[in-house]
Parts: sequence; structure tokens; C-alpha cells
Amino acid sequence: MTESGVNLRGLRQHNRAMLLTAIRRAGGLSRVELAGRSGLTQQAVSKIVPELIAAGLLDEQQLPAAGVGKPRIRLAIRPEARYALGAQLDRDEVQVVLTDLLGAVVAVTTAALPPGFPPAEGVAAIGLGVDRLCAGIDKTRVLGLGVGATGPLDHRTGMVRDATHQPAWHDVPLRDLLTARTGFDVVVDKDTNAAAFAHQWQTDGPTPATAVVLVGTGIGVGLLIGGRLYRGPRTNAGEFGHTTLSYDGPRCPCGRRGCVEVLHNLAKSPEEAARLLGIGLADLVQVLDLERIVLAGRAVRAAPTIYAEAVAAQLAEQLPAPHWQRIRLDVSELGEDVVAIGAAAEVLSVFYAEPQMTGGSPPAQ
Ligand SMILES: [Zn+2]
Repeated sequence: MTESGVNLRGLRQHNRAMLLTAIRRAGGLSRVELAGRSGLTQQAVSKIVPELIAAGLLDEQQLPAAGVGKPRIRLAIRPEARYALGAQLDRDEVQVVLTDLLGAVVAVTTAALPPGFPPAEGVAAIGLGVDRLCAGIDKTRVLGLGVGATGPLDHRTGMVRDATHQPAWHDVPLRDLLTARTGFDVVVDKDTNAAAFAHQWQTDGPTPATAVVLVGTGIGVGLLIGGRLYRGPRTNAGEFGHTTLSYDGPRCPCGRRGCVEVLHNLAKSPEEAARLLGIGLADLVQVLDLERIVLAGRAVRAAPTIYAEAVAAQLAEQLPAPHWQRIRLDVSELGEDVVAIGAAAEVLSVFYAEPQMTGGSPPAQ
């Protein structure tokens, strides 16, 4: 094969992925709109679209004509053309979801895990969940398995380092163990990054500089900076829960004193816990010039109004808050599936060849 042949083939793949992404993000587009959005010529679009329809990836939907003239045809992703699996491996439970090609949850299964469970038990629990969800479907249509797990971990190799609060977990090759167990391609990421990815995946248009704050058995943030997930050079950015609020405060399981996480978890009421979280988040806004904060995780789900109000109050009190430093504060609408959905979306993003940030270099625009 010639060099140019390789490049042309690569270009073709790239163009197919670009068209699918544009259609997915818009929720459906006509051929004309597709050419406008993708920057490809109408000729190129009309050449590639029939291939995507023949491959079963796109549906043609007939829309009512506007006034006189031909009825309009809209191209939409066929949701059932492919599936993705996503899992959250938490410190006390595992949840696995099956999503369609648009990332909508088709089925979900959850199992409790005992405190301090060893790696083999976590792998077995995810494996059982995968078996259950794949029972009635064609496995060749499943693109792979994404896993959001407790860090620190290396996203590039799928190796979990010394997971906080989990002494049995030390340099565990989680990705390879799950590939061996399930037979699927596996992507492993921090639970916080998966949660952030779940929110970015839904966005059509520019993403503001965002911290998705996951308040669960631990506290961490996933960072969307420059429109992309920022993982950092060792893929462990976002350890916000272990920043110091009180240098002579109580000892945290991480070894330090007075971390946001330990103070939050020892707080006497949800109001106090949320207030401490807000004080820490005001610092994070200052460091990263954040435009948006999204609160997620089980503690927030248990008391969403308390968290939203207390964090908003702290941001207003702690930040200089001139007219140019407004922060949009939201409670995540993705509910308890947020990490598993994001992990599945990471698998889908590989299929759509959407850009993901895997290193520490500044995001390319
Ligand atoms: Zn700590």
C-alpha cells in the first residue's frame, strides 16, 4: 500500500467520525446542515452518508415540509446500532450500565461490596454485572467497557495505584484483569474524570471551565478545561479532597491533616459539611479561574438544596466576586449513574473518534 493510500484511508475514517459526531451532538441534522457544521463539501457528505446508512449507523427521518416543497430528511444516529458498558467501582458497591450509541442507559445493575474488598472481588463483581447486561444482546455490537474507579490510578495503563482507603489495592492492573475476564476492550479512569466526561459528552457547543465535584465515599473533582477533560501528566489531576483547609485539623486517612475530605466527613450536619466544601471550592475557583461548578455524588443527592445553597453562600462570601467573576453552580442531573454513564461515554468517544485528553499538554483547540 502506498503512503498516500494510507493517508486517504485515514482521512476517510476521520471524515466518517466527524460526521457521526456532528449528527450525535446536534441530535440529528439534514445533509445541508451537516455540510455546514462539518466543514466538508456537500459532495463529500453525500458520498459518505450512504455508507453510514448501509452500515446501519444512521437512520433517515422524514420531517414535515416547511410550506411548499419537498419533505425534509433528517439524519440521526441509530441508537441500537452499538452499545457500550460503563461501570463505577466504588469503595462499597459496583454499578454497571449498558448504554446505546447515544449514551442513553438501556439497563443497569448494582451489587454491594464489603469494606476493604480485594481486587479479585471487585473484578468478579464487574464481570457478573457485564454478563447480566449482555445476556440478551449481540456482543459483537458492544464497543467495550469503561470503568470509573477510586484513584490514584494510571489511566494510560489501567493500573490502580494505592487506592485511598483500600489497603488491598496496590499496583493492580485493573484494565488487563477486566479484559481477561470480559473479553472486551477496557478503559479505566478515575471516577471523578468519568463523572466530568459524562457532563462534557452531553454538551453541544463550548464547555465553560468546569469542576465536576464528586462527593461520595471520598471527594474529588473532574476538570473540564479548554473544552476537554484535563487529567494531568500522570493522569491524577483533581485530588481536591486532599487539599488542606486546617493545618492542625484532624488526621485524614491519606496521612495529612485537615483535608477538605476529612473535615467534610466529620462534620456534624449536612449544612456544615456543605459549608466546608464551599470554602474549599472557592479556592479552586481562584486557582483555575473556573466558570462553572457541578455538584454530584451521593452526599449531594441526599441533600441537593442544602449543598447548592451552602456552596453558593461560600462562593459569594469567599470570592472577591466582582462583576466579572460569576460562577454558575449546578447540581448534576445525571443522578446515581453519573460515573458509570461517563465511563461508558469514554468508550463511545473512542468510536466517534472524539478528542480526549490523555496527557498533560495544553488542550489543542
Ligand atoms: Zn486527605
